[in-house]
Amino acid sequence: MRGEEELACDVLVLGGGLAAVCAAVQAARLGCDVILLEKDPVLGGASSPMLGIHPSGAHSFHPYAAETGIIGEIEEEAAWRRAKIRTAGQHHNIAQQWDTLLKEFLDGAGVRVLRQTYARQPVVEGRRITAVLAEDTARFRSLRIGVRGQVVEASGDGHIAASAGATFRQGREARAEFEERSAPETADSVTLGASVTALVRKTSRPVTFAPPPGTPPFEPGYGFAATALGTERCLHAHSAWNPDEEFCFLTHTETGGQRDVIADDPEIYEELLRQLYSAWNHIKNEAHAREASHWELVWVSPKAGRRESRRFAGDLWVTQADIENGTAFPDAVGYGGYAVDIHDPAGAEDKQVEVVYYSIPPLWSIPYRALYSRDLENLFLAGRLAGFTHLGLGSYRMQKTLAQGGQAVGLAAALCKQYGCTPRALYQERLAELQQRLLKEDATILNLRGADPANLAARASASATSEQRHGVLHATDWLPLDRPRGVQLWDWAPSLRQAQLLLLNPGDEPRTCKAALMHYRPAQPYKESHSRVGFAYERVTNRMEWGDDNLLAHWETVAELKLEVPGRFAGWVEAPFNQELSPKTPTSDEERWMVLVEPAPGLSWGRDLQRYDFVRRAWLDPGSGQYATDGDSHCFRIDPAPPYGEAANVLNGWRRRFATNPVNMWISAFGEPLPQSLTLEWPEPQTFNTVHLVFDTLMRTFKEMPFNRDEEVAPVTVEAYDLEVFDGSGWRLLASETDNYRRRRVHVFPTVCGDRLRLTVRGVWGEGGPARVYEVRVYHEPPSPDTV
Ligand SMILES: Cc1cc2nc3c(=O)[nH]c(=O)nc-3n(C[C@H](O)[C@H](O)[C@H](O)COP(=O)(O)OP(=O)(O)OC[C@H]3O[C@@H](n4cnc5c(N)ncnc54)[C@H](O)[C@@H]3O)c2cc1C
Repeated sequence: MRGEEELACDVLVLGGGLAAVCAAVQAARLGCDVILLEKDPVLGGASSPMLGIHPSGAHSFHPYAAETGIIGEIEEEAAWRRAKIRTAGQHHNIAQQWDTLLKEFLDGAGVRVLRQTYARQPVVEGRRITAVLAEDTARFRSLRIGVRGQVVEASGDGHIAASAGATFRQGREARAEFEERSAPETADSVTLGASVTALVRKTSRPVTFAPPPGTPPFEPGYGFAATALGTERCLHAHSAWNPDEEFCFLTHTETGGQRDVIADDPEIYEELLRQLYSAWNHIKNEAHAREASHWELVWVSPKAGRRESRRFAGDLWVTQADIENGTAFPDAVGYGGYAVDIHDPAGAEDKQVEVVYYSIPPLWSIPYRALYSRDLENLFLAGRLAGFTHLGLGSYRMQKTLAQGGQAVGLAAALCKQYGCTPRALYQERLAELQQRLLKEDATILNLRGADPANLAARASASATSEQRHGVLHATDWLPLDRPRGVQLWDWAPSLRQAQLLLLNPGDEPRTCKAALMHYRPAQPYKESHSRVGFAYERVTNRMEWGDDNLLAHWETVAELKLEVPGRFAGWVEAPFNQELSPKTPTSDEERWMVLVEPAPGLSWGRDLQRYDFVRRAWLDPGSGQYATDGDSHCFRIDPAPPYGEAANVLNGWRRRFATNPVNMWISAFGEPLPQSLTLEWPEPQTFNTVHLVFDTLMRTFKEMPFNRDEEVAPVTVEAYDLEVFDGSGWRLLASETDNYRRRRVHVFPTVCGDRLRLTVRGVWGEGGPARVYEVRVYHEPPSPDTV
């Protein structure tokens, strides 16, 4: 080693995983001098080309729950640029362009990135880390990096945090400690295991595979592919070798959960290689010799991916119960929603790794207090090492969930610099500012509206050339009331004065029918089974669907009415239910209300074959124990109706949907061609120089997101638009865009003064789609708008 080189920064980020990248980018965008250290030659942590693990998050189990903020931006850009290789099934990615893209984000924000540099030792004075000693293994240099502000520990294992004296845990908590229903009776040192990843491809010629000496015989117990399905099926199931594909990712291996995954890393890696060779030998030379004859093992990750090691104490621990109950933490800074996914190294029969989904939780909040060390005054915790219990980590550890924690920490670090305070003091004194700044940076916080006093748009009113409202008004055909038929609502107002139904009575005589108001309320906020009932009418499904339980026994009748339908009549019939309704949980599709009409010979109910995402059609077939549903709808309207696609939604403080409804955006009327315009109008002229636009890019399922579908852009995205101001004499163009693929656009221009702002959507990517805009914000920013 040559002599020690001195560097200094405001914020030092340890690790180059996605949480680290988002922390560094956010802090640097807000004016901090940031250095990021990554011991590997590539960026992305587990998602880097060294392991290629697909970033996932809440969206796998929750409709429309794609992560926004910096991780959303990264994926959006990666999709547009196709920074990805195509593998079957599981979307794993070892494209070098992914690393290049992350580096561009860091460079663009002004972060100094030191690759192949590992953080070796902290320098601690009192309760502060004042410097970190690091080794640049590419250039054989030792570095001393002085830290003026915060250290963000995002290295997965937390070597620096542990050396600095931060309290941590390793292993499973006892059930009684946090009252976690799935925890073992007694605490132990068991963690989730580690795995290698591998790529296999189909070739044009036969390829042999000679297992290296010492390769053990294959046992179905290897890795999480070994399930009750047995050897044959398991190779095609979770582990994703499929002879009909061209290029597959293997994840057959897992071990290390009963060892010290850090100290025993070399032995664990070798054991994983043996498992992999054994599984591939089984495929190639034993069970599938004919089908696999042209298949070749082309790549194995040069290191093991770890799922868990140390977890550090913040000011609270997030537990399984917090996640499963969707605890509404007041200091929420992000959200999760993936399964409580635990890999038990011993498994049921004490001999194989078993993957257990203890539950599918509702969308749950990440509390800020779990993201800083309780012991040190300038240590943030990003990534899997934050303050979550072993079971809590089961849901938190998804990379896009972790990335949100990273962005929150980066923003908090910038505010700590601005106010000269500690992470804890920021929580105690400036929590609201932290949360509102996060929303402005496009992070998602459940149950928190944007309320930025500097946002001039909040003082405006909104109107549009057309808007799509709640209710289905036009029938394409009529369905006979030969069985119970109904409409299930994804959203509702706090009360229901009346429903109106479009009914047909072709006979001369008046007829009656019975209408009921029905309610479905889940027994608990989480699901214990990974049910795949799903919706037959949806082309693509998530790994599980909410709102698909339609067992009769689970629906309660709240009110019943008799309806009179005159003879020779086709029109609206009123059902005056006059009921108070439970408030709609905006982050869940599980609870529903239904208006059901009992069988009534001679009567029909109008149907519109168009699909509306605020309703679906239901009916009960003879002898069935559950309602069937389809994506179209009977014609109905309810009074009062909940908002749907009104222009005013762009000012309601929500910048995304969290479930199927409410949509929280302006949607121009279906069937009205583009262009369509949205206008904000103020009583007095306003002076401003910046407009933030948030377009819809959120597809219903994670599989439909462009990065996961190998597509460039979501079809709902606005592609072309103009932004204009009315300055008293006429409309002046502020921006005109084509080929837009971004959810959030920030337009900065020389200061203007006007009493109207107009956004004209000229095109969307999907054919015939309406304009869809979540939010418009207007600011008069100081010269360097994003710098605190
Ligand atoms: C086989 C496997 C499959 C998985 N499947 C999925 C999945 O499908 N979807 C999903 O979202 N998640 C998945 N996960 C979980 C997910 O990958 C991890 O939970 C996540 O990557 C942890 O993020 P992190 O930022 O904390 O750590 P990492 O992503 O591991 O990043 C930490 C980085 O810090 C670096 N580092 C460590 N020590 C130092 C040091 N001292 N100095 C400098 N740098 C250092 C490391 O090299 C690494 O690049 C999987 C994990 C594994 C192992």
